[in-house]
Amino acid sequence: MALKFHNTLTGQIDEFVSILPGKVSLYTCGPTVYNYPHIGNWAAYIYWDVLVRILKANNYDVTRVMNITDVGHLVSDADDGEDKLEKGARREGKTAWEVAKFYTEVFIDGMHRLGLIMPNEITKATEFVTEQIELVRKLEAKGVTYQIDDGIYFDTSKFPSYADFAHLDLDALKAGARVEANLQKRNPSDFALWKFTPAGEKRDMEWEMDGRMGFPGWHIECSAMALSILGKTIDIHTGGIDHIPVHHTNEIAQSETANGVRFSNYWLHNNFIKVNGTKISKSLDNGYTLDDLQAKGFSMLDFRMLLLQGHYRSEGNFTFDILQSAKNRLKNWRNVAALRHQVHDTLENSNQKASDDKSVPAYAVSQAIIEAINDDLGTPQALTLIDETFSKIANAKIANINRSALLQLLETIDSTLGLQLLETTPDVSDDIKKTILERNQARIQKDWKKSDSLRDQLAKQNIVIRDTDQTSIWEYKI
Ligand code: AMP
Ligand code: ZN
Repeated sequence: MALKFHNTLTGQIDEFVSILPGKVSLYTCGPTVYNYPHIGNWAAYIYWDVLVRILKANNYDVTRVMNITDVGHLVSDADDGEDKLEKGARREGKTAWEVAKFYTEVFIDGMHRLGLIMPNEITKATEFVTEQIELVRKLEAKGVTYQIDDGIYFDTSKFPSYADFAHLDLDALKAGARVEANLQKRNPSDFALWKFTPAGEKRDMEWEMDGRMGFPGWHIECSAMALSILGKTIDIHTGGIDHIPVHHTNEIAQSETANGVRFSNYWLHNNFIKVNGTKISKSLDNGYTLDDLQAKGFSMLDFRMLLLQGHYRSEGNFTFDILQSAKNRLKNWRNVAALRHQVHDTLENSNQKASDDKSVPAYAVSQAIIEAINDDLGTPQALTLIDETFSKIANAKIANINRSALLQLLETIDSTLGLQLLETTPDVSDDIKKTILERNQARIQKDWKKSDSLRDQLAKQNIVIRDTDQTSIWEYKI
């Protein structure tokens, strides 16, 4: 089945066709590095990790750029309020540069902790200021900008399809324009390409343009970085649903005006995660960080499992109870993964077994998982398929487990969902194997005392024995 995504540009599920066969250019709007990312922020990057994984599973060579917004993202998301970086600097008594460096490192460390596939390039907005100024110049030359006291603005009335992407009602926007909004703006939707440092002030981060100091607008950063590395038209652009009406609408307006071609063929947006059914907010202090989850005994993979249980386009909910059930599900899956170490060599992989109807899992399951994810990142459906298959495996006679099909299935799950089932389920040591054999022997001889004491000894080493009709299976305790 073909790869399909919900494309915000068309408002429907579209089959994915790349510009160049076998290649995908992908731009992900990255974090603003002024604070610790919370689980809602991370949700977005975990979903886009699955996107990268499924593109790779479909044999695409993916070139991905993700930016780091280290300047110019104002508190209001529009063009007023303080720069989030400068605000962070005041809060911490540091310079904006120090704040940016610190939280960029926190973010990249978090990406590693979560096992996210690293983008080919992680670009900092502050390292692309020349490209941003060039893009502003290009727009000026096209006559779509104007200068007012606090900066250079894009005149959105010069881009006739401005309202289309987010289905904006520009008349309502005009009527509802806030009284205190910048009166010099020609249209309420006009946005700053470049802002001037206010007279008499000095910012930590500022650059010279036309003899005045200033800094780029948040939107021009993404357009300039995508354009300089990936080209005028890219295959896929991702972000959160909050980006649709302002940030991405503005990226499209300025990129398409500058280049005269479509900016991105597919636009994917993730929905938001709530915590205990409530919006994540500073005042509620419910924006948990990765460290908060770890402090409560949860792993990064437990958190990934929680997110995969939901669909990226549906509003998600996080509670510690849901995280606990995701953890339990992962634990059960690991014990199925560990069965690969316990399938008897004499029976494994024989042709007779592979074609036997009792043999589990079927080779076709791996393909079915890929197809579920191909269908607009259908991770909940993929997880249901895995549950069904794993429960068949867990209930099967060990002799009916097809080791090579199980290995293929685990590899598919790990490569598409990043759950690291193979990596986290090592075989037990030779000593433990010996103890298990001794215990089996004691059971055969009905020496219950010895069998129980060996069972206790194994439990101390985090191994639990599950006795079935034919054999004893070991499992990880935690
Ligand atoms: P920021 O660093 O504030 O620019 O946000 C980084 C990303 O996190 C953006 O793409 C947002 O769309 C996304 N985001 C913020 N809050 C949430 C949330 N509660 N759930 C999912 N994504 C979120
Ligand atoms: Zn962006």
